[in-house]
Amino acid sequence: MQAEVNIAIDGPTASGKTTVARLLAQRWHLLYIDTGLMYRAVAWEALRRGLNLEDSQSLAELALGLDMRLEPDFALPSGCRLYLNGRDITEELHAPAIDRAVSKVAAVPAVRREMVRRQQEMARGGGVVMAGRDICSVVLPQAQLQYYLDASPSARAQRRWEELRAKGDPITLEEVLADLERRDYQDTHRQDSPLRKTERAEYIDCSRLDAQQVVDLISTKYRAWHEAERASADQERPQDHA
Ligand code: C5P
Repeated sequence: MQAEVNIAIDGPTASGKTTVARLLAQRWHLLYIDTGLMYRAVAWEALRRGLNLEDSQSLAELALGLDMRLEPDFALPSGCRLYLNGRDITEELHAPAIDRAVSKVAAVPAVRREMVRRQQEMARGGGVVMAGRDICSVVLPQAQLQYYLDASPSARAQRRWEELRAKGDPITLEEVLADLERRDYQDTHRQDSPLRKTERAEYIDCSRLDAQQVVDLISTKYRAWHEAERASADQERPQDHA
């Protein structure tokens, strides 16, 4: 039987990884998992309960007890819906308050351990596209296809600003850029699993490529991987004797 390919995609905020991962999942009928939504959900519940975001112990206990479920929904820009204790909170997870809180929550080692455990469980059967910050380095280091998507801060800020403006948010481009640089700094400087490109991951600069071009690029590798697998399975099959 052919192995199911897992595709791991990491990259900074607004690098385009969510769109690329969603389109790949649609094209190849894979399960898409946006791991950022999971950290956002922990931050959402922490804010709702009024927890102190410096209190790692409370955040860890919170993360362990959360009933979280991800479901694909390709009609959404995020490509996934997140249910917390049965309630769909997807639409609330990209609010500015969550943007500001999430990197703090995601820096807590015990929160990460719990999210990583859940993500590995979801990917166990293969056939998953997973996007985040530590997917190649920690969650799926054995994934057959691994990518690091990047773009310049100004290109990423412009993209995120256009998304927010389309939703009617009056935020300025400068504010978006400042938030993005703050989050980049926190995500790349935290002690536990900072965002970084691993040796195995292929670097793709999305500043000059649109999402569809990146999807085509990864799809070529995806097809090649399957063809190589098929060829080696054919070789291993015992020959028919006349
Ligand atoms: O991808 P997104 O911007 O939704 O992620 C929100 C935040 O969640 C990131 O800024 C990062 O702090 C955290 N995150 C993480 N590890 C992941 C995915 C997201 O630390 N695998």
